[in-house]
Amino acid sequence: MQLTLDPAEPDAEGGVHARDESHAAESLTALPPDPSLAEAEPEIDAGELIEAAEELLRENAPHDFDVLVIGGGPGGSVCAIRAALLGLRVGLVEERELGGVCLNRGCIPTKTLLESVEVLRLLRRAREYGITTSGGFAPDLHAMHARKDEVIARLRENVRRQLEKSGAQVLEGRASFVGEHVVEVKAPEGPVRRITAVHVVIATGSLPLRPPLPGIDLPGVLTSDEIFHEKEVPQVLVTIGGGAVGVEFAYLFHELGSRSILVEGDRQILPSEDDNIGREMDRLLRGYGLDVRAGRKLKSIESSAQGTRLRVTLESDNGEEVVEADRVLLALGRRANVEHLELAAAGVARDEKGAVQVDAERQTSVAGVYGIGDCIRSVGWAHQAAGEGTMVAEMLAGRVPSIDLKHLPSCYYTHPEIASVGLTLQQARGEGKAARVGRFDFRSNGRAASAGEHEGFVQLVVEDGSEKLLGCQIIGPRATELINEVVVALKNGSTVEQFVGAVHAHPTFAEALPEAALQALASGGNLGGQRGGSIIEEAEKDDLATDDEGREGDYQ
Ligand SMILES: Cc1cc2nc3c(=O)[nH]c(=O)nc-3n(C[C@H](O)[C@H](O)[C@H](O)COP(=O)(O)OP(=O)(O)OC[C@H]3O[C@@H](n4cnc5c(N)ncnc54)[C@H](O)[C@@H]3O)c2cc1C
Repeated sequence: MQLTLDPAEPDAEGGVHARDESHAAESLTALPPDPSLAEAEPEIDAGELIEAAEELLRENAPHDFDVLVIGGGPGGSVCAIRAALLGLRVGLVEERELGGVCLNRGCIPTKTLLESVEVLRLLRRAREYGITTSGGFAPDLHAMHARKDEVIARLRENVRRQLEKSGAQVLEGRASFVGEHVVEVKAPEGPVRRITAVHVVIATGSLPLRPPLPGIDLPGVLTSDEIFHEKEVPQVLVTIGGGAVGVEFAYLFHELGSRSILVEGDRQILPSEDDNIGREMDRLLRGYGLDVRAGRKLKSIESSAQGTRLRVTLESDNGEEVVEADRVLLALGRRANVEHLELAAAGVARDEKGAVQVDAERQTSVAGVYGIGDCIRSVGWAHQAAGEGTMVAEMLAGRVPSIDLKHLPSCYYTHPEIASVGLTLQQARGEGKAARVGRFDFRSNGRAASAGEHEGFVQLVVEDGSEKLLGCQIIGPRATELINEVVVALKNGSTVEQFVGAVHAHPTFAEALPEAALQALASGGNLGGQRGGSIIEEAEKDDLATDDEGREGDYQ
């Protein structure tokens, strides 16, 4: 194994750098000798030496795999495929379905159902677009589930094929440690296999949380895992938790016809997002008819007198309130899925929440054993797990990982969508940075006007002086697609001028990004007194600069 980790730590961005010998050699020849270093003793890190020696021993002892990955979700499967493509002998153990929570009980099923709801939304508005729907239409939850299941099956097969093509070997069964680099795999039927590997990557993901509250296990109290089995739309759904999972399901069932009550303990839904975003989503959801109750916590649940419904008691600073529901959805977070792993047998430490403890290189307390994805933080994003999988695979293959784990987008697939990356203005100022925001409203965007999607805005956070982009928050059409452009800009350390300098196609929703950047330039006094904005859209904006309620548009 060629890996030599630089003891110099992870960089400020959470990335790590394996030592690149060729670059080191280059810079040595390029620099004049430094006399102050002539007498210096070379520094030897004893811990690292021992680790390298142990790794050498493991490599030379008989072993089944160079890398054994436990868990075939986005973290584990990406890690296995990448490591195998980089020439390592890789095994991947999965006890359920390939694709993990993301593909089977998370990202893909929710987004597939939400796409059906999007069609329903458009049909309801068909007349606005000049279309008559004389035959009528109605959602069919059974058919929506059938479509969702087909999508999942197709994508799962895709993961299997990619693993096969890469040369990674898939082992079906539950893995548990019996030693530091020794794992037993118990298949549902068949013998127990004992496997040794030079490196083990734990990627076992997370499970929904059921807090220990009265009535939490009553029939009809569901988590995101069970709600996918519901074949009827509940008349009243109470969703507890106003984060990504809660908001998406509450919105979904509202559109399908439930009376949807969304409860959030914080003073506002989407508490991990910028205040303006949470406030705008709250306003829009209420406008659609959702019953949003922020600042309230779940106290208990009990069956109604007839036993047919659930009585949900919420508590807040103002006292208690009871709501009746057919179903309660718990969206209160997740916990690391490590119960069956026998981590103690390997000596892998867990943090105070029970998740696998790792350092910045995602190495656990045991050398050569790594942790990635939800199992190291309990709740995360699929792309975060996949990014960590790529990073660890590249490190294990002796490469310098090129993945940027600092700029991770957050995405919410409601209507309109929400996406953000990097710092909010408050966070930037909290870090002592002088910063400002450039904002642009979609109601002044040509494509948004033609699509009939006027809601929402883009906020770009820009550092004063350096003029670098620090972050972006979007609520509006295709927000989850637009954000990727900003991710690339942030990774490249782009300034706001560089961002504005890239000509965007017209008319597109993405034009809102350079428009917001122009606003930031203008508010920084960098436009020489010009009003920002493309000439093409000036006429459109002049028409749209005042919205229905007579408020002035933000493009000013
Ligand atoms: C309803 C919902 C919607 C979501 N939507 C999004 C979204 O839109 N975008 C997004 O980025 N994220 C979303 N997420 C989060 C995303 O699903 C997770 O962050 C992601 O799946 C984590 O990937 P992972 O590889 O760490 O673990 P997982 O996907 O949980 O995969 C872990 C795998 O390990 C297997 N495993 C566990 N223990 C063992 C063992 N002992 N032996 C063998 N195999 C084992 C499990 O069976 C599982 O297949 C959503 C989550 C939920 C619940």
